[in-house]
Amino acid sequence: MPNNPSQSMVIRVAIPIHLHRLFDYLPPVDYPLDAIKPGLRVKVPFGNSHKVGFIIALLADSHMDFHKLKPIEAILDTQPLLADVDLELIAWVSRYYHYPLGIVYSNALPALLRQGRAAELPVEEYYALTDLGQTMDSSQLKRAPKQKALLVHFQQQAMPLPASALSAFDSKWRNSLKPLLEKMLLQSSQPTSVSQVSNTQPVLLRSEAFASNPAQQAAIDAVCQQLGQFKVFLLHGVTGSGKTEVYMQLIAKVLEQGQQVLVLVPEITLTPQLQQRFQQRFAASIAISHSRLSDNQRTAAWLAMQQGTCNIMLGTRSALFTPLPRPGLIILDEEHDASFKQQEGGCRFSARDVAVVRAKMLGVPVVLGSATPALESLHNANHNRYQLLRLPQRAGNALRPSFQLLDIRNQKMQDGLSAPLITQIHETLARDEQVLLFINRRGFAPTLICHSCGWVMRCKHCDANMVLHAKDNRLRCHHCGYGHARMLNCLACQSPQLTPLGLGTERVEQTLVRLFTNKKVVRLDRDSTKRKGSLEQSLEAINAGEADIILGTQMLAKGHHFSKVTLVAMLDVDGGLFSVDFHSAERLAQLIVQVAGRAGREQKPGRVVLQTRQPSHPLLLTLVQRGYTAFAQTALQERQDAFLPPFSYHALFRVQASQEQWASKFAELVVVLTNRFNSPGEVMVLGPVPAPMARKAGYYRYQVLLQSVARVSLHKLLDNMLPELYNQPRVMGVSWSLDIDPIDLY
Ligand code: ADP
Ligand code: ZN
Ligand code: ZN
Repeated sequence: MPNNPSQSMVIRVAIPIHLHRLFDYLPPVDYPLDAIKPGLRVKVPFGNSHKVGFIIALLADSHMDFHKLKPIEAILDTQPLLADVDLELIAWVSRYYHYPLGIVYSNALPALLRQGRAAELPVEEYYALTDLGQTMDSSQLKRAPKQKALLVHFQQQAMPLPASALSAFDSKWRNSLKPLLEKMLLQSSQPTSVSQVSNTQPVLLRSEAFASNPAQQAAIDAVCQQLGQFKVFLLHGVTGSGKTEVYMQLIAKVLEQGQQVLVLVPEITLTPQLQQRFQQRFAASIAISHSRLSDNQRTAAWLAMQQGTCNIMLGTRSALFTPLPRPGLIILDEEHDASFKQQEGGCRFSARDVAVVRAKMLGVPVVLGSATPALESLHNANHNRYQLLRLPQRAGNALRPSFQLLDIRNQKMQDGLSAPLITQIHETLARDEQVLLFINRRGFAPTLICHSCGWVMRCKHCDANMVLHAKDNRLRCHHCGYGHARMLNCLACQSPQLTPLGLGTERVEQTLVRLFTNKKVVRLDRDSTKRKGSLEQSLEAINAGEADIILGTQMLAKGHHFSKVTLVAMLDVDGGLFSVDFHSAERLAQLIVQVAGRAGREQKPGRVVLQTRQPSHPLLLTLVQRGYTAFAQTALQERQDAFLPPFSYHALFRVQASQEQWASKFAELVVVLTNRFNSPGEVMVLGPVPAPMARKAGYYRYQVLLQSVARVSLHKLLDNMLPELYNQPRVMGVSWSLDIDPIDLY
């Protein structure tokens, strides 16, 4: 017996809250029923407040008590913002990552639309050259370099530019704009729409492509043959092999066909570089999306793609969900990069994996590019699920760097620098070339230790040492931010003999300055680049050849081009060789290859020195002697022998609580529920165990790891046990998360 007495329509709505269910509403009073369809945003009463939700389905009846259904307050759109194929993706993500549909849905939209703002392109100011500005010789402005730079930028771009693009070019562009307007060199303008451009210029190229080398051409041809259908390509090209050039030629092809391209990069800091290269090549506007842009800018970029007025989107992880009415191609650069996986909070999706699913749903090819492909991706290529495309050589004339494992056992060390390395640095600097030194830790020293009693300063909220920062004379925890002034006496025995233990970038910098007098050392780490614009400044100094020695952390491994660097050294690679997490070998190999890729990018050959106390470690030997692919195949074999991913599948529950027994009890509950639904032999349950860092930011942390050789079994188990877990009475002070295909076990 239906419980709908009035035969009225029931509207099922996804609401962005942490519940795994949908909610039913009635249509708004006096609203034409045939105008209501899935995909529209709605404002609904919820508890004592309102929420913006999304219509999922229209039904004849509800499983809820019909008399309790409330009408929707307002329908916010006349047309759905997302197409069916976008909704299909959102549903897939929600299912695969076991995350509430309403939240996944909401996160697919830019913040303003999420909040219910009208889906209209915010009006942006545009500026363009006047006739005078077009012909003006910019050297006449040489006494106003900023004005000159802006004018030249307009002359190079040769089209009206919006305020957002100008901000990306120079954050203080308005200061230079005003005088240029007054000199009648610039004027305010209207945007050129993409269709206008394409009518006048069938090929949207501003500058000519390189004549591609045979490997590049083979890659381009392979992808072009598959345009219009789904296929995954893994573009494995060493650093500098011309991957970006391949992307650009593919993009040109897709633009010619009037289709759209989605380009994803892992880091915000990499977008300006790529944006610049794209803008030099393509006479089309490029939509940019990353977290440093304003909500208005991101909404504008999203809508420009959604409305089809823009054909290229360049963005980070979340741009993956941008609607593409005319999809042609998806490109994911640096596909191995961990920042493609959402790590903390929210739906922990892998943008790489979801991009593949998305391409399949859209029926377009996807290109995953990297100098150091993830083991999973190589595994997929081994099994012909992905087509491997290789660019084995550097493009242009650059030569491959040579590697040296430098045995530092029994060597006299000066703050991490062995005598042979110091000699090599001297030699390199004498040739007027740059040196790049990598160390994986910022600060002065990883800790302070008491010479009398052995006490070290631990964080009171985490299982971690406090790192000494010399600049502000403080100790800081890198996990929770807790800080403490540097003490003069040991807190345990009062001895004044406290010494810094170990190495950080600040300490190495100090030593370098002392050893290499008159040489300029530039340090790049999270502390030295905190101020806005300081990273850009340092990079400029490096590229202008003002820096002699570049010293830095992880940040150096990411895509930057340092053309005058010929010596790269990693001061300590041993740390990564002994970790509890099986992923760390892969990470270390990728890091070494990526850092090495900074060496000798131009005419002069580069040298890579790895300081180690493990000169015969098989991982290092394989990598250095036989290269990344050989390393990867060995590492995959090890994973297979141990039944580890990608030869099995993982799901990781992380539990944290302010009291240790709360966390462990909840983790035990997870195990009990898992076992209740598990069939013998299907899914292996490991835990509960304390997390590798058992306490962080004041919380006790436990884990339960599920492993199965069959993905289906794992997900079926989760489908069955999660509703039970959600049904448990909420335990105050306990929070938990589920990570599907975790990329680390911390
Ligand atoms: P990757 O993205 O693989 O690091 P890039 O596309 O940035 O490589 O290319 C590295 C360098 O080689 C760039 O300076 C690029 O302009 C140049 N380059 C790329 N392809 C060619 C080519 N076919 N001929 C000459 N130079 C090229
Ligand atoms: Zn002491
Ligand atoms: Zn801490």
